[in-house]
Amino acid sequence: MKTILVIEDEQSIADTVVHSIEREGHAAVRYERGLDGLERLKAEGCDLVVLDVGLPDIGGFELCKAIRAFSQVPVIFLTARDEEIDKIVGLEIGADDYVTKPFSPRELAARIKSVLRRSAAGTVPGGGTAAPAEGLRIEAEKLQALYGGRKLDLTRYEFKLLALLAARPGYVFSREAIMDAVWGGDSPSLDRTVDAHVKSLRAKFRDIGAPADLILTHRGTGYALRDDS
Ligand code: CA
Repeated sequence: MKTILVIEDEQSIADTVVHSIEREGHAAVRYERGLDGLERLKAEGCDLVVLDVGLPDIGGFELCKAIRAFSQVPVIFLTARDEEIDKIVGLEIGADDYVTKPFSPRELAARIKSVLRRSAAGTVPGGGTAAPAEGLRIEAEKLQALYGGRKLDLTRYEFKLLALLAARPGYVFSREAIMDAVWGGDSPSLDRTVDAHVKSLRAKFRDIGAPADLILTHRGTGYALRDDS
């Protein structure tokens, strides 16, 4: 039996989701507010998150990024709008799958089953068993990163960039995806911004004796954190 966190503010939809989870023999824990769900996830963990895009207190995408800063738990989005799908499918926010409203309980159950199976096999892009470079620890609450127990003195953007890469080790993030996730709306929108921050991050790693290939460059594509799984 798996424990599945359901974060959805609409009662009737939440009921459908919980029902289809329980019918599959899993346990559902439901939250109306995103930050409550996040707190529960941090405290106790879970096997899968079913996440509504439109929540009363925090956007589903923002919440997913917050989850990815510390957890590889698989995330399935519930979405009502076509324009949201592109963003989810682009996987820039680290989701594993999505279901469009209105959906049938059977459809959702099938997606959950498939994501849990892939997750167990370690092949879910945003979840599974990918392990960040050995020795690296991200402490999301303190906005702090350590390598081999030594603290990295990072700026806010350097930290956000590293946390993004560390959320999905081995996954190549494009410069655009990094810009969007790390700088968001107030971006200076220059590819060189990303390159410059990667460069300074590498220098800081080097200063504390970390290996040079921790952050990998994929020519013409982007950057990835070494996967030590
Ligand atoms: Ca909603």
